[in-house]
Amino acid sequence: MRLKDKVTLVTGATSGIGKAIATRFAAEGAHVAVNYLPVKQNAEVAEALAKSFATDSIAVAGDVSKRADVERMVRETVERFGRLDIAINNAGIEIKKPFLEATDDEWHKVIGVNLYGSFVVSQAAARQMVAQGGGGKLIYISSVHEDIPFPDNTAYCASKGGVRMMMRNLAIELAPHRINCNNIAPGAIATPINQAVLDDAEAKRNALTEIPWGRFGLPEEVASVAVFLAGDEAEYVTGSTYYVDGGLTQQVTLY
Ligand code: NAP
Repeated sequence: MRLKDKVTLVTGATSGIGKAIATRFAAEGAHVAVNYLPVKQNAEVAEALAKSFATDSIAVAGDVSKRADVERMVRETVERFGRLDIAINNAGIEIKKPFLEATDDEWHKVIGVNLYGSFVVSQAAARQMVAQGGGGKLIYISSVHEDIPFPDNTAYCASKGGVRMMMRNLAIELAPHRINCNNIAPGAIATPINQAVLDDAEAKRNALTEIPWGRFGLPEEVASVAVFLAGDEAEYVTGSTYYVDGGLTQQVTLY
């Protein structure tokens, strides 16, 4: 077990990549606080997920774009397990809209969840890590769009580019506290966020032409990299982005 007794908060953990990370971390011995956005059936899903783990784990409600929710999530985690070792900033949303039509509300929503949410979760988690001592790990599920443009997704790209710069800054500021900060940049992973593309044969075919590996990635393939970055073997790794994209980032063709 590579993460035995490590207390880990995973945001947006009721589906897709977050769920895969929570599941894999628990299998590696971590106590997981399974964060869910308190809408739909998420509470039941998160409770059931936490109960299904072999380690003592809990579900924690909260919208990452609200500071009070985030501080409560961290408090509940620490009250239960006594500390917080790892925070996985995974919660994220996309609102696809041509730039000329995008509204202020859409901009603020995407930036609020993806960028401000990562800021406030990192800050609440890092304050706890500094207070308890012994270091910690902040991991961000950014995107290949932290660097690669994505037309009709300006707010999303701005949010992920912002996460990239925030992570690099924190890697320096938090190094004296031995808090490692790293991004994982997924390419096209088969999760609900991509359901429209997965359900549309032509869109899926087009997407596959951009991926040298010739298939969508699996959430579990993102989780494997998160386990490495969260573990002791990544002690000297900070300020980096790890691409999990089947080569998509390298696919620049001129003709
Ligand atoms: P997903 O299945 O839609 O997961 C996103 C999760 O975040 C959902 O559980 C969602 O809850 C939750 N969430 C949304 N807003 C939240 C909020 N305000 N507070 C707390 N939780 C919130 O999609 P995914 O693909 O696993 O995405 C996970 C992360 O990977 C995102 O940051 C995404 O940008 C990034 N990513 C994904 C891909 C990909 O190809 N899949 C590629 C690059 C980056 P609800 O289900 O209730 O909305």
